[in-house]
Amino acid sequence: MIIDFKEIKCSKALTPSKIYGFDYTINPYIGCTHKCSYCYARFMNRFEPYKSWGNYVNIKKNIVQILGNEISKLKPGRVIFSSVTDAYQPIESKYKITRQCLEILNKYNFSVGLLTKSPLITRDIDILHKLNSRKGGLSIGMSIMCLSEEDKNNFEEGSPSIESRFGALKRLNNEGLEPFVFIAPFIPGVSEKNIELLLKRLKECGVKSIMIERLNLRSGNWKDIRIILEDKYLNLVSNYYKDYLCSDYYRNLKQDIRQLCDMYGIKTHIVGSNKFKEKIKNKKITDYLWLFFKSIINFFI
Ligand code: SF4
Repeated sequence: MIIDFKEIKCSKALTPSKIYGFDYTINPYIGCTHKCSYCYARFMNRFEPYKSWGNYVNIKKNIVQILGNEISKLKPGRVIFSSVTDAYQPIESKYKITRQCLEILNKYNFSVGLLTKSPLITRDIDILHKLNSRKGGLSIGMSIMCLSEEDKNNFEEGSPSIESRFGALKRLNNEGLEPFVFIAPFIPGVSEKNIELLLKRLKECGVKSIMIERLNLRSGNWKDIRIILEDKYLNLVSNYYKDYLCSDYYRNLKQDIRQLCDMYGIKTHIVGSNKFKEKIKNKKITDYLWLFFKSIINFFI
């Protein structure tokens, strides 16, 4: 895959946050080569309408300088990284923009929240320690949608392996930085495979709390998710709407996961609303027919 990298200039570094608990967001990059099919940030494609999500990254080359200029005029607050990108995607190892922003934020006593899929975060353990030395100065989350590398590759073509994320979690915990794990999005029928083993592995990595997020289909991602389901999980998809995209499914899931988490002594929190019903209502009869025929074809080949 050829990635289109472009250096750009931004005029603002921190923008007011709509995310609960955070005052500002910062995104060192536009675009993300982790290329998750379910990504909620693909609306950012409006800046690059002729490119496809996952195949380009715009690098805000001057964001460190802009942050340095604007931060002294602001009251210290809480900053979330990665609301529309992953601040530790591979290009960060070359540009070190996230690292430099963290240094500035720490210098001005801002608190930081970081959510990533990448073990590259461990490169910045020295700065993370500085942030963490202030009460409430740091919160880190590692995002993992399932245990299986194969499933991961189906839905997150360019993201780091699950095993490498376990390694990073272990390291961050050994350093006392206590990352939480964000099982997100929870893809019905896929994420629950080996969920007990996943929780066991997380426990072994020292994880004390997890957050689970329901799949959000409001961001125009359903088309891509459906293509993957039809291509790789045909047995699953033929009954997907009936068996998985319903409140009963989530109610039972919640119960099962809470029990497992209690068993492993992991705190759990499930977030997100069930918008699937709308999708079911909006489904056309031709969509069902297409799934039916695909199942038949699959049966005979
Ligand atoms: S890592 Fe996050 S921002 Fe990047 S593609 Fe995946 S979901 Fe989107």
